[in-house]
Formats: sequence, C-alpha cells, structure tokens
Amino acid sequence: MPEATLQIAPNAAPLTSFSEDEILFRDNIRQFAEEKIRPLAKEMDEQGVFNKDLLHEFFQLGLMGIEIPEQYGGGAGKFFEAILAVEEFSRVDASSGVVVDVQNTLVNNALLRWGNEEQKKRYLPRMATELCGAYALSEAGSGSDAFALQTRAELKGSDYVLNGRKLWITNGKEAGLFILFATMDSAAGYKGITAFLIEKDFAGFTVGKKEDKLGIRASSTCELILEDCHVPKSNVLGEVGKGYKIAIETLNEGRIGIGAQMAGVARGAWEYANKYAQERKQFGKAIGEFQGIQFQLAQMATEIEASRLMVYNAARMKDAGVNFVKEAAMAKLFCSQVAERVTSLAIEIYGGYGFTKDYPVEKYWRDAKIGKIYEGTSNMQLQTIAKLVMGK
Ligand SMILES: Cc1cc2nc3c(=O)[nH]c(=O)nc-3n(C[C@H](O)[C@H](O)[C@H](O)COP(=O)(O)OP(=O)(O)OC[C@H]3O[C@@H](n4cnc5c(N)ncnc54)[C@H](O)[C@@H]3O)c2cc1C
Repeated sequence: MPEATLQIAPNAAPLTSFSEDEILFRDNIRQFAEEKIRPLAKEMDEQGVFNKDLLHEFFQLGLMGIEIPEQYGGGAGKFFEAILAVEEFSRVDASSGVVVDVQNTLVNNALLRWGNEEQKKRYLPRMATELCGAYALSEAGSGSDAFALQTRAELKGSDYVLNGRKLWITNGKEAGLFILFATMDSAAGYKGITAFLIEKDFAGFTVGKKEDKLGIRASSTCELILEDCHVPKSNVLGEVGKGYKIAIETLNEGRIGIGAQMAGVARGAWEYANKYAQERKQFGKAIGEFQGIQFQLAQMATEIEASRLMVYNAARMKDAGVNFVKEAAMAKLFCSQVAERVTSLAIEIYGGYGFTKDYPVEKYWRDAKIGKIYEGTSNMQLQTIAKLVMGK
C-alpha cells in the first residue's frame, strides 16, 4: 500500500501535541460550548431551529472567520483551529459543529482560494462578522454523481441568468451568501460547471422547503430555487468552466471537518456513557464495575483516539501544504463509522433510559448518522481511497 505522503520534520512531535495558542483556543471554545451551547442543544433539536443569538455569538467569538486573514477582519488562524472548533462544538451539539464547519472549511475556504481581490474585499469582512455562508452543489437528481447537475447558467448581457433547483443545502435558512454550482453546457460534462457567488436577495433566488430530519435537526437543510436568477458577471467564483475543480478541492478539505464533527460526536456520547456507568447500579454495584462495560468503554475510547489522530493528521497535512486527499477521505470514512458504533453503544450502556428522549445519548446517535452521507457517502470515500491505494 502506498505510504502517507512523508515529510521531513526536524522535531517530530506527537500528533496530540498542540501549540500554546492552540490549547488556549481549544479551551476557550470548550468553555463556550459548555456554557452557551449545551443548555440550548436539546431545545434546538426538538424545535429543529438554530438559535439566532447563538449564531451571533459564533461571529462575535471570531469562529465564523477562523482562517480569514486579518486584513479582511478575520482571525488569521490555521485550518487546524477550524477543525478543533468543529470537534469541540460537535462534542456538545453536532448542529453547531456543522454550522461552523460549512462556513470555514467550505465557503470561506473557497473564497480565500478562488475569490479575486475585489470579491475578497466585498465578502470576507462580512463572512467574519455577520454573513453566514452555504455551499450549494447537490440537486434532487445529482448527489454522489454531483457533476450531473442540471441547474443552468446562461450569459445574457452583463449578467448570468440561472435556472434550476438545489437540494439539501446546509445553512440554507441562515445564509446570506451561497456558493452555487451551475452548468453552462451540460454536453461538456464536468467541464461545463461554474461556481457563482449568490446573495440571498438576488432577484429570482428563493430558499424553499426546509427538511425535517433524523439528526442534526437544528442545522437547516433547504431547497434553493433559481428562477431567472440574475447574477452579475463579477460574481463568478474562479474561472468559468472550473467549478468542478473548486467543488472537488473544497470538499477534500471539508471532509476533514466532517471527520472532526464525527470525532466530537463520538467523544460527547462516550463521556455521557462513562459517567452513567459510574452512577447506575445493578447487582449492588455501579455497572462500570463490570468488566463487560469497562471493555466496551475501553474499545470505544480506543476507536475515538484513532479517529482523532486521523483527523488531526489530515488537518496538519493540509496546513503543511502536502497532499492530504487520501488521509481526508480515510478520516471521514473511519470517524463516521466510529461515531455510529460509539453512539449506539452509548445508548446500550444507558439501557432502556438511553432509548428515551429524557437522556442525551439518543440525540448523539441520530446526529452520527449523517457522517456517512454528506460531503460524499462512505462508498464515495471508499472509491477515492481505492483509486489512491490501488491505482484504480
Ligand atoms: C443533512 C444533509 C445536509 C447536506 N448538506 C449539503 C450541502 O450543504 N451542500 C450540498 O451540496 N449537498 C448537501 N447534502 C447532500 C449530500 O452531499 C448528498 O446527500 C450526498 O452526496 C449523497 O447524495 P444522494 O443523497 O443523492 O445519494 P445517492 O448519490 O443517490 O446515493 C444513494 C446510495 O447509492 C450509493 N452510490 C451512489 N453511487 C455509487 C457508486 N458509484 N458506487 C457505489 N455506491 C454508490 C451511495 O453511496 C448511497 O449509499 C446534504 C445532505 C444531507 C442529508
């Protein structure tokens, strides 16, 4: 099997070693998540609505523009910090994790890499302070086969005119800016695809139905409708016909974020299960005294450790500027498998109580399910990995 892309590191350090700034950043986020997100998580899940004040606080804390350079009003942080934020938030609430994930790893990331100077000046200061972003690739008929998309863009005078529908768009309700992919020539296949920057109040653009979901219920997932939507030429992101490259490359990075989300979900569920095992008594002692339960918690902890190492390694590779495509796909694949296993076992450790909504673990299990589906299903990750390790 081909080895991971090796780099020379003069002072090779364990993957779990953080800089002082990273520790401070993580501790602040952890505290915020405990104090501000945890008390709202259950209600947001039940209502299926993301708390507006909480979103406002994400901006105030600088968490919606982590990697945006200072000159555009952002935090000038590294990708690794964005990953820490997604993991820590998801430990408490996976919906909060994905809001921050989409903003940083997909939308800001695409703007930073492919936006021209004028676009960066126009949007990045707002992305860092008040503008929520969404990433619109999927359609009803094109999910895994994303480049079979049908939304059409036609140049008419100084505007492109877009018609079509997008489905499943995260942050659809909250977003003010959408990176949206459309084709100008379906016969050209993926080479016909272009990325556009669409503002919520552009004529002909509407946010449609919001999905009622199994998990990550507070994160909005919406249909987008484009009916003669006029988009100025100046809102083409990157080059015309290069939308496929933007989509592939941003999703490669985004997958590390989903890995982090799943690692956080698994950790959150494990902590509840461990605490419950010390408290719940059967046969005259805490169930955590039984080796059967200890072994389950030990196995879960081992898998979580492996998940985090994969996520941290992929994120560090990204920050180091080396190729991380295989590691990102593997991290997403594995972390979502672990999250599903760990959250399921957490319910079992809670016994019947775990199966009710009075206890927190069933939410973790519901939230874990999406990890195998969005930003490329597990089969799509396996396809990427197979191609890279087998040369297929
Ligand atoms: C909550 C949620 C949020 C989302 N957020 C966004 C978003 O913000 N932006 C966005 O653009 N999209 C988003 N999506 C869409 C998501 O990325 C797609 O659902 C996903 O890519 C799968 O596409 P699909 O649902 O059409 O499934 P399909 O592609 O129809 O797949 C169905 C099944 O077939 C399998 N399959 C398909 N092709 C192959 C193959 N070649 N080999 C083997 N198996 C195959 C898949 O693995 C899967 O098991 C979101 C989805 C959900 C549910």
